[in-house]
Amino acid sequence: MALINLHEAPRPKRITCPQEVSIFLNLFHGMIPREYADELLAGVEGAYLIRESQRQPGTHTLALRFGHQTLNYRLFYDGKHFVGEKRFESVHDLVTDALITLYIETKAAEYIAKMTTNPIYEHLGYTSLLKDKMVHRLSRGRTGPRRVTFQRDERISSPLVRRSALKDTPENQCSYEKIHNFKVHTFRGPHWCEYCANFMWGLIAQGVRCSDCGLNVHKQCSKLVPSDCQPDLRRIKKVFSCDLTTLVKAHNTTRPMVVDMCIREIELRGMKSEGLYRVSGFSEHIEDVRLAFDRDGEKADISANAYADINIIAGALKLYLRDLPIPVITFDLYSKFIQAAKIPNAESRLEAIHEGLLQLPPAHYETLRYLMAHLKRVTMFEKDNLMSAENLGIVFGPTLMQPPEQNALTTLNDMRQQKLVVQLMIEHEDVLF
Ligand SMILES: [Zn+2]
Ligand SMILES: [Zn+2]
Repeated sequence: MALINLHEAPRPKRITCPQEVSIFLNLFHGMIPREYADELLAGVEGAYLIRESQRQPGTHTLALRFGHQTLNYRLFYDGKHFVGEKRFESVHDLVTDALITLYIETKAAEYIAKMTTNPIYEHLGYTSLLKDKMVHRLSRGRTGPRRVTFQRDERISSPLVRRSALKDTPENQCSYEKIHNFKVHTFRGPHWCEYCANFMWGLIAQGVRCSDCGLNVHKQCSKLVPSDCQPDLRRIKKVFSCDLTTLVKAHNTTRPMVVDMCIREIELRGMKSEGLYRVSGFSEHIEDVRLAFDRDGEKADISANAYADINIIAGALKLYLRDLPIPVITFDLYSKFIQAAKIPNAESRLEAIHEGLLQLPPAHYETLRYLMAHLKRVTMFEKDNLMSAENLGIVFGPTLMQPPEQNALTTLNDMRQQKLVVQLMIEHEDVLF
């Protein structure tokens, strides 16, 4: 395949007008007929001018010579110039970009078509820095919620049979899928696509970059990249309010370390604390804990030396869960859980909740499973802490479940079901997860 020399693309040539002046400076020729515009462009490749449209007065048309014809584009301005998605400081920049793009697209249509048929991506991983992680990742199987079958058994009253053998997920391992978080990006200097290895042409917005892992690809290639984003810790600026899956991928853990660390601390010294999770700690101190996690990550000090009051740690955990951009029980599945809670028959209700749990993203599922096991242990100290599964349901219902569209009425209407879902998950933690 012949390499394309971008220097062969036509250079832009301004055709100026001595009389008319506008935001386009002297490029604007007023309402001249198409034919006259053609004459001015004089068949010179890359020559361009701006005229007012005769068909739609008040709108501007960019006339540009390329491929031995005059191409006409409706030209827009909103502080920057554009004909399509990309915005430019000057019309000259816009034309330069257009000429390169047109050149590549016409002279190398075949080349572009072939670009994505033989991606380098799968063979190489996307950067040498991440290569080790990548090999590591590819060698692992996908961990997700396991399917538990409900079987009837005459010997026990509950129809739910727990398969304890399934509870064998190794700790501290993370193989969840995560989609890349691509944003249009302007690259300085020449860049090559990390999916197809081809040049990223254009002056600005040449491609997209994943803001979690830094992967750079063509916009068209971004649709072909697998959901294997491995967030870079340096790019994840916060711990709180960070997407749950993104955080666990960045830290390479099964669950968010905030959840693990807070639960560890609470189980160490707070299980008998009266009103655990119900009594709120000082909000400034809870805010301190949040800042400590955002700043120090897993090195954050949440020990008794730093925060003697366990309610601060419990409050920080609740805050973390409440501030997730996507709640632990995701917006998508919210109504499924609410509907499940409304089922009158206890057995079918539990099955419906279980169905919902299986659809959670793996990182969400693992977090919920761990949290429910912990809350179950909290209820074992009910005599001291006075926290029953129902009480905890009231506390954690609105924290773990938030309606996709917040309004006072749904929030009020769903409170009972939110409480019930959490209460049931605690009470039946052993069979549901
Ligand atoms: Zn990514
Ligand atoms: Zn590409």
